[in-house]
Amino acid sequence: MEELFATDRLRELLPRIHEFVQQELVPLETAAYLTGPFSRVAPLLDEKRQRVKAAGLWGLADPVSEGGRGLTLCEFGQVSEVLARTPFGHYAFNCQAPDIGNRELLHRFGSDELKARYLAPLQAGDIRSCFSMTEPDRAGSNPTNLGTTAVRDGDAYVLNGRKWFTSGADGAAFAIVMAVTNPEAPPHRRASQIVVPTDTPGFRIVRNVPLMGEAGDGWLSHAEIEYADCRVPVTNRIGEEGAGFALAQERLGPGRIHHGMRWVGIAERAFELLCRRAASRDLGDGSRLGDKQFVQGWIAESRVEIDAARLLVLRAARRIDERGAAAVREEISGLKFYVAGVMLHVIDRAIQAHGALGLTDDTLLAFWYRHERGARVYDGADEVHKTALARQILKRFQ
Ligand SMILES: Cc1cc2nc3c(=O)[nH]c(=O)nc-3n(C[C@H](O)[C@H](O)[C@H](O)COP(=O)(O)OP(=O)(O)OC[C@H]3O[C@@H](n4cnc5c(N)ncnc54)[C@H](O)[C@@H]3O)c2cc1C
Repeated sequence: MEELFATDRLRELLPRIHEFVQQELVPLETAAYLTGPFSRVAPLLDEKRQRVKAAGLWGLADPVSEGGRGLTLCEFGQVSEVLARTPFGHYAFNCQAPDIGNRELLHRFGSDELKARYLAPLQAGDIRSCFSMTEPDRAGSNPTNLGTTAVRDGDAYVLNGRKWFTSGADGAAFAIVMAVTNPEAPPHRRASQIVVPTDTPGFRIVRNVPLMGEAGDGWLSHAEIEYADCRVPVTNRIGEEGAGFALAQERLGPGRIHHGMRWVGIAERAFELLCRRAASRDLGDGSRLGDKQFVQGWIAESRVEIDAARLLVLRAARRIDERGAAAVREEISGLKFYVAGVMLHVIDRAIQAHGALGLTDDTLLAFWYRHERGARVYDGADEVHKTALARQILKRFQ
C-alpha cells in the first residue's frame, strides 16, 4: 500500500484482499486456465465469487446506496492494484471491465427502471454486460465518427450497424450501444447510449475476433456484432438523447484510473518475476543473471517507473475524487499512455530475463503480453492522448 494515500478502511481491507488473492486465486494460474477458453475457468471463478461474498469483500467498487462499500476512486485504485496481481482477480471480485464502468454509468445516469432491470443483477454478479462503440470500418480514435444508427419509430429505437471489439459480449445479457440518434446535430451531440438486450431479434455475434492468436470466449473475448433492425424501447436510452459522447467522457475518467491501477498491479507482479529470475538463474560460469549490469539496469529502471506510475495514478484519482474528472483531464491523458507503457516495458524485460521460458505459458508473462498489448490502443491510443496533452500545455504558452 502507498502510505501517502492510505486510509483506515484500506488498512483493514487490503491485507484481507491480498490474502484472498494469494490463497484462492493464485493457485488458478495454471497453463490450462491461462491458455484455455475462459469457459473452463469460469465455473471455478463463480465458486470464488461466493467465497468473496462470504468473506464480506463483495461490492468493493459499488456505492453504499447500491449496497457496496462506497470506496473513493483513490481507495478503489489501490484495491485494483492488488486484484491485478493475478489475471482473474477483478473477475472474482466482480470488479472487471467493462461491467464496472457500465455499472457506474447506470448508477449515475440510468432511469429507475434500467437500474432495477440491469444494475441490480450486475451488482449481484448474476449477469454480465458489454460496451459496444468501436466499428470495424470507422476510425475508433474519433468517437464522433459512428456509422451505427438508432432511428426513432414510435416508442422504440431501431438499431442498425456493425461493431467490433465489444469486449465480453459473448455470454453478456446486454450491450450498451453507442448509436447515432441525431444525425443533424453538432458532431458531439449526435449519438446516444442505448441498452440492447442480447436476446433482441437482430442482435448477432458474428465472431469473437482472435487477438494475438486467441479468439477466447465468454468474458475474455472481443466480439464483432451485427445489429440488424434491433428494436428496443426508447426507455432503454441512458440519459438524454444526443448525450452519448458526454456520457462516454464521464465513464472514461474513472475508467482510466481503474485501468491504470490494474496495470500497476500487473507491472508489480511482472517485476517480482523479473527479480526472482535474476536472483536465481545460474549462468553456469559462476555468475547469476542478476550479477549482470544490463539486468540490474532493468531492475532499477522498472522499480522507479512502477513507483512513478502508481503515484501518477493515485494523485489523479484523488484529484478526481476532490474536483471531478473534467478538472484533471490532462493528468488522466498523461497517466493513460505513461502507465500502459511502463507495464508493457516491465513485462517485456521480464520476458527477456526468462529467455525461452518467458515465451511459454509456464509463467504469467505470455498471458499478459497477449492480453495487455491492447492497453496502448483502447481507451484512446497513446498518440491521441499525447497530442491532447501537448495541445493543452501549448495553449498556456500562446
Ligand atoms: C483489447 C481491446 C479491447 C477493446 N474493447 C472495446 C470495447 O469493449 N468496446 C469498444 O467499443 N471498443 C473496444 N476496443 C476498441 C478500441 O476502443 C479502439 O481500438 C480504439 O478506440 C482505437 O480505434 P481503432 O482501433 O479504430 O484505431 P484507429 O482510430 O484507426 O487508429 C489507429 C492508430 O492510428 C493512430 N492514430 C489515430 N488517431 C490519431 C491521431 N489523432 N493522432 C495520431 N495518431 C492517431 C494511433 O496510433 C492508433 O493506434 C477495444 C480494443 C482492444 C485492443
